[in-house]
Amino acid sequence: MQEISGLIIKEVRVANDSKIVTVLTAEFGKLQFWAQGSCNYRSKSFSGTRIMCYSRLMVETRNGQLNYLTSSDCIKNFKNVESDITKMSLGCWFLQIIDILIKDNVNTSKILRLVLNCLHYLDVCGSDNDNFELLIARLVFELRLLSYLGVSPNFSSCVQCGTTKFLRSISVKLGGMLCINCDTNSESTPNSILSLLKYIVLCEEKKIFAFKTSKKTIEIASGIVEKFLFIYLDIVPKSYKFMKEQLREILQNVDKDKYKYKDKDKNNDENKVLA
Ligand SMILES: [Zn+2]
Repeated sequence: MQEISGLIIKEVRVANDSKIVTVLTAEFGKLQFWAQGSCNYRSKSFSGTRIMCYSRLMVETRNGQLNYLTSSDCIKNFKNVESDITKMSLGCWFLQIIDILIKDNVNTSKILRLVLNCLHYLDVCGSDNDNFELLIARLVFELRLLSYLGVSPNFSSCVQCGTTKFLRSISVKLGGMLCINCDTNSESTPNSILSLLKYIVLCEEKKIFAFKTSKKTIEIASGIVEKFLFIYLDIVPKSYKFMKEQLREILQNVDKDKYKYKDKDKNNDENKVLA
């Protein structure tokens, strides 16, 4: 018998009130457990095996096969995410991407902290449907995850010639920046977008949400990161369509100028990113 802690990222109901849960742990990567009878609310494993719970789990291996979960306690859950359909759509999107992209031999300690931070951010931010913070959570999660997986775009130098000067545009196809000599055709990427993307990739872990930006910047940056993300996703996750529909409503409402981070200084459209 062994005690481990982890975030429940997937639950699949099987026969006899049991389920198979997938858990993201800091020490052992992504693990699967058979949780006997845990769909029954009277079971000792009921609360701690629900999706999006960070739980303490007692597990054991039988016959060298699938790991069995014998009991569980929920250490932390995200009630405001569970009770808000838009937040939940985003939380499920985070968990599904992790389930798809995390393979064996990946260091998951940073990834676990990232997803817990992003779920906490969702949990404490407002719940109005014009809430721009949900869009920020999505952008930070996706880009930082790509970075931790070692596949984030190269924002520091030209992917063609290597220069670090006069960078002008982002190429999804080539995986990073192009300089003015290597790219004379496409539209240049505004500094505000580049600054934001670089900040999210390079900042300290505890400062991942410590920036302010405009609606336009976050919208364009999200579009770029989504394209990079889909290069690494072999399939379109089931939660994608619903999550996009939910966020589309927010974007439409933000268009009504309700956004609380709305630019105060309209003459200074560039470099809104603050460390
Ligand atoms: Zn170049």
